[in-house]
Amino acid sequence: MKRPKIIDIRATTVAVPLEAPLRHSNGAHWGKFVRTIVEVETDTGIIGLGEMGGGGESAELAFAGLKQYLIGHDPFEFEALRFKICNPTASLYNNRTQLHAAIEFACLDIVGKHLGVPVYDLLGGKLRDEVGFASYLFFRHANEAGEGEVRTLDQLLDHARELKQKHGFHAHKLKAGVYPPDYELELFRALAHEFPGDTVRYDPNAAHSVEEAIRFGRAIEDLNNDYFEDPTWGLNGMRRVREAVRIPTATNTVVINFEQLATNVRDPSIDVILLDTTFWGGIRACVKAAAVCETFQLGVAVHSSGELGIQLATMLHLGAVLPNLVFTADAHYHHLKDDIIVGGLMKYVDGAIAVPTGPGLGVELDREKLGQYAEYYRQTGGYPYDRDPARPGWFALTPNTRWADPKTGA
Ligand SMILES: [Mg+2]
Repeated sequence: MKRPKIIDIRATTVAVPLEAPLRHSNGAHWGKFVRTIVEVETDTGIIGLGEMGGGGESAELAFAGLKQYLIGHDPFEFEALRFKICNPTASLYNNRTQLHAAIEFACLDIVGKHLGVPVYDLLGGKLRDEVGFASYLFFRHANEAGEGEVRTLDQLLDHARELKQKHGFHAHKLKAGVYPPDYELELFRALAHEFPGDTVRYDPNAAHSVEEAIRFGRAIEDLNNDYFEDPTWGLNGMRRVREAVRIPTATNTVVINFEQLATNVRDPSIDVILLDTTFWGGIRACVKAAAVCETFQLGVAVHSSGELGIQLATMLHLGAVLPNLVFTADAHYHHLKDDIIVGGLMKYVDGAIAVPTGPGLGVELDREKLGQYAEYYRQTGGYPYDRDPARPGWFALTPNTRWADPKTGA
């Protein structure tokens, strides 16, 4: 059987609407996700799919720029791919980690389709048929119809009850760091008490000072916490929090490569490493990192940096093969109104999504939807992730002290 060779790479930036704008400590997702969909075409007719966050002309051009490195590349050669575009010294000038991730997804998809096997069979075989997810609650602005705001205690609990009823979640993550810590503490404790049989996780995206994080962490020690996610910035700050708070620490920000993972093994700051298929540069890097964590008995979970169905498929295949995955994964996915894959949005059943079993990533591009949302992107453009539409002129400090006002949201 003739081995496929890459003959073209195409990137298309799309914008897909969210139910309502999602707030985080550094700004907001302004009512949509902007993602770049990558198609890697081969001479056997197989097209592999990839996805990357952000977009616009710069992302499309960045992928076009990879053609000079990858035309003629054999998609089976994953280690060669890594060094062709992510050589560590060359990366000082051109950091292509996230581009590499999208191309790696597409190459795994190609190899799987070529062999007629799902990606999980290329990664050691699946240990579970579905991956469980947390509810991932955000403070939200009202949408254009004036609906969907999450700011008050009642709004948060209503939203959480609705998501649990609709999707069956058994874990609840609060994306926080928007309002003053004492206000968020009151809401987070109420959330935990609302669902006494479920677990909770608080993630203020490193907005707290070390001292604030310690104070907050001690005030939630009695809850059914999965872990305390990035309460403060930095390995040294997280180490101080870990020494003072009896909740496992977790990060998706300060252990996102092997150098940092080695540092964390030698001098622990983080108990649970949240593996992101984009931040780490691919699914395979996450599998390797999970093996290091298994060796040193650190926890792992699957992180979400915002996704459409292609990226979600990478998270599902990753979750399927990790022996040491004991926590539910995170996904922004249920905040989306639509998807660009055939069949539309994947469904949650009892808080979990089935791992796709078709060849490759097991998802197909809906070309009509791709065209529709590429047009929506051309009409509406990108958005500044690190700004908030309700707070003109505001930007976050780290640690932050410029909290939004719980009375108005601004
Ligand atoms: Mg996080």
